[in-house]
Amino acid sequence: DRIKHIRNFSIIAHIDHGKSTLADRIIQLCGGLTERELKEQVLDSMDIERERGITIKAQSVTLDYRAESGEIYQLNFIDTPGHVDFSYEVSRSLYACEGALLVVDAAQGVEAQSVANCYTAIAQNLEVLPVLNKIDLPQADPDRVAQEIEEIIGLDAVDACQVSAKTGLGMEALLERLVRDIPGPRGSAEAPLQALIVDSWFDNYLGVVSLVRIFDGTLKKGDKIRMKSTQRDWEATEVGIFTPKRRPTGILRAGEVGFVVAGIKDIHGAPVGDTITHAKTPDVERLPGFQKVKPQVYAGMFPVSADDYEAFRDALEKLALNDASLEYEPENSDALGFGFRVGFLGTLHMEIIQERLEREYDLDLLTTAPTVVYELAMDDGEIRYVANPSKLPDMANVDEMREPIVRASILVPQEFVGNVIAECEQRRGTQLDMQFLGSQIQLTYELPMSEVVMDFFDRLKSISRGYASLDYGFERFEAAKLVRLDVLINGDKVDALAAIIHRDHAHGRGRALVEKMKELIPRQMFDVAIQAAIGGQVVARSTVKALRKNVTAKCYGGDVTRKKKLLEKQKAGKKRMKQVGRVEIPQDAFLAVLKTN
Ligand code: GDP
Ligand code: MG
Repeated sequence: DRIKHIRNFSIIAHIDHGKSTLADRIIQLCGGLTERELKEQVLDSMDIERERGITIKAQSVTLDYRAESGEIYQLNFIDTPGHVDFSYEVSRSLYACEGALLVVDAAQGVEAQSVANCYTAIAQNLEVLPVLNKIDLPQADPDRVAQEIEEIIGLDAVDACQVSAKTGLGMEALLERLVRDIPGPRGSAEAPLQALIVDSWFDNYLGVVSLVRIFDGTLKKGDKIRMKSTQRDWEATEVGIFTPKRRPTGILRAGEVGFVVAGIKDIHGAPVGDTITHAKTPDVERLPGFQKVKPQVYAGMFPVSADDYEAFRDALEKLALNDASLEYEPENSDALGFGFRVGFLGTLHMEIIQERLEREYDLDLLTTAPTVVYELAMDDGEIRYVANPSKLPDMANVDEMREPIVRASILVPQEFVGNVIAECEQRRGTQLDMQFLGSQIQLTYELPMSEVVMDFFDRLKSISRGYASLDYGFERFEAAKLVRLDVLINGDKVDALAAIIHRDHAHGRGRALVEKMKELIPRQMFDVAIQAAIGGQVVARSTVKALRKNVTAKCYGGDVTRKKKLLEKQKAGKKRMKQVGRVEIPQDAFLAVLKTN
């Protein structure tokens, strides 16, 4: 009855509520790692994750826990990312579990992301245990937050665990609750193998490594396995668990979570959501799997130096091996040359990919403003999707242009609700619902995705002193009066600066854009005229006046170090500039349209 002593669980939490800290503490309590190894938060393994303090890829850990009763339990827990861009990873992780810990910062309260993820867990029939974290903080108010959990989520939280992941307070009690209240998995080690691929990633030495949950049967090293989706057979060359380091055990049984390596060289050979069985039991049913995620925003990415094009393509290829949600295709821009149009799950995903490309592959890239995908009903009945403003077809042949609409759920303390409503209205939002839940208000809006992709999240934070939280998902396409806003630099249309904008906002945004760009484009040896145009008609213009003196003339004769510093600064700034015609345009200017609200 080994399976009765397995507990598979995830941790659901809003960013910064302490999920990673709690995970580390659990690992430590179960003796998984030494104090020294714990110094760095172990689960956030990518450099960027550690620096930004966010979790991107789900990770799993297998631990032994000796309960007060003396019985040994195998705990498998799967860490999940907290940001809205990565919520699909959350539902995947939850699928492999029987329970979830809902971690809420007792000094902050419930946030929109946690609500959304918690509902996903409940919908998947998971046992959800509320955990109030950070009770060591003087401003912690566990009773108020417990009440909030009941009011907002509808989850009984009267005797929620109260812990401090930082000091370790309450952690033993939490683990006891976990083994008591979260049910063990079902399944039989003797049945034919049925395993779900929860995640796959590419390892330079091993090829594709897959995180799997065994629902039935036993998977051993050396077994001939079959991928249900491709019907291809492979030999399982390594099988084991994460502790969190990868540890070969040679065997995984029903109910367990671990990894399998089978000499697969392409991530599409072991797609996430696929079912693995043995080659000798080909009739085993496929598990439901997951919805395929589609990119929501697209941007052009161009190497600053044309010589880097090949290196850039190789880097994208490598990154895509690890990240099945990343899509790209070659793009040729008149202004920026050869590059790629890359699809992302959201703007955070985009920032992270850009950062990884620059850091891990040492590339200097220029990124255009992200756009959403538009649906075009052509007059010949064809439906087209366009995610590049400069690739819009002749509008005379377009019957209707439709934009993606999201359903957004916003949680905000009462005192800021007026600000948030005003912001949503300004962004063409339609209010669907407003509910008072404890000290917070839950607003439900339909908003054009393009408005959310812009700086909406940052704006929400700044108009609510950081308290508002947001969750959203695509709903449908809806007809809208949209136009293309073109930008001309010294009379030349710059394709990479074009944007698709609602007609009622186009003039205002055009004016704001040329003003913003005037601030961002450095002065050059000649006047630079910036114009915004709609359908060939100029709606706004501004001019960057010519530079008269040599920049270094500002430095006094002998001060060499200052002069040097200034030149270095100029050089660093130049890295992310692109010569468009005779004019040097910095990266910020390409993103200026995002900041014109
Ligand atoms: P995550 O984004 O949910 O993974 O959150 P982290 O585990 O990275 O924690 C976010 C911040 O909260 C970090 O600075 C932690 O040190 C801090 N933190 C986490 N748990 C506690 C706690 O119980 N008490 C206090 N005072 N701080 C905590
Ligand atoms: Mg974390």
